[in-house]
Amino acid sequence: MKIIVAIKQVPERDARIRIDSAGKWIALEDIEFRMNESDAYALEEALLLREAHGGEVVVLSAGPERVGQTIREALAKGADRGIHIVSDALSGYDALGVASLMAAAIRDEAADLILTGLQSDDLGLGQTGVILAELLGICHASLILKIEKSDSGIRVLRELEDGWFQHIDMSTPALLTIQSGNTKLRYATLMGIKKAKTKDLRVVEAAALGVSATPCVLLDSVALPSRQKTTQMLTGTPAEAAAKLVEKLQQEVRVL
Ligand SMILES: Cc1cc2nc3c(=O)[nH]c(=O)nc-3n(C[C@H](O)[C@H](O)[C@H](O)COP(=O)(O)OP(=O)(O)OC[C@H]3O[C@@H](n4cnc5c(N)ncnc54)[C@H](O)[C@@H]3O)c2cc1C
Repeated sequence: MKIIVAIKQVPERDARIRIDSAGKWIALEDIEFRMNESDAYALEEALLLREAHGGEVVVLSAGPERVGQTIREALAKGADRGIHIVSDALSGYDALGVASLMAAAIRDEAADLILTGLQSDDLGLGQTGVILAELLGICHASLILKIEKSDSGIRVLRELEDGWFQHIDMSTPALLTIQSGNTKLRYATLMGIKKAKTKDLRVVEAAALGVSATPCVLLDSVALPSRQKTTQMLTGTPAEAAAKLVEKLQQEVRVL
């Protein structure tokens, strides 16, 4: 089974967020980056499938040069090779643009399975995987927790709301968007880190893929959440103040 895993590099969760001078995104200077969480689970599912059934796991990532570091991390965890779509200007693309870049880069790979995360931890559109499947003309399913190989293709476990689950049988090739949290993630071993340096990494310039960078969705501005801290004095007898407090906790804070 040939499995391609799309991995996005995103800012560290505890990074100090400032808005950039254009007011359209966060300032990326002095920020640490890491692998998008649901993509790490997608990678784990791919590695487990390869361990059980053989085949190849290929990591795909689009972004500037620093993204190579996240691809190497995936290779150190056990992926076989990587594809890096190099672009310093992904902010000029919307989800359709990024998915089009990825489709152009992997169309000839003829993968059996393409896994993406459910959504990115920074922009969080949750669209790229589904659009990629449509561009490649393959079937897709979202919110996947578990993948098993079956006689006719794959059997996947989907998460619904309120503890409900669904089993779906799918033919391959297929694209699945993976939900976080179902398995224990592996760490890269020292040997894995050493081996990663020698694994094949195909570098493709985004500009060479012939994809238009004219987005149909334009990000106008971003805003940090405003912090509101006010003090309210509850007056009256202790019983009256307690009753007012309970009402506030029920109606305003909604914790009771
Ligand atoms: C201001 C601005 C800043 C932007 N900054 C970035 C940026 O830092 N990085 C970036 O990639 N794009 C960036 N973009 C481009 C683009 O809008 C998004 O990458 C694209 O729309 C994906 O949306 P999303 O991040 O919400 O991913 P989602 O649709 O939520 O992602 C779902 C899954 O798709 C896959 N995926 C998404 N993007 C990539 C990728 N680049 N490489 C590999 N797999 C991917 C991952 O598996 C991810 O879990 C930016 C756009 C704007 C307007």
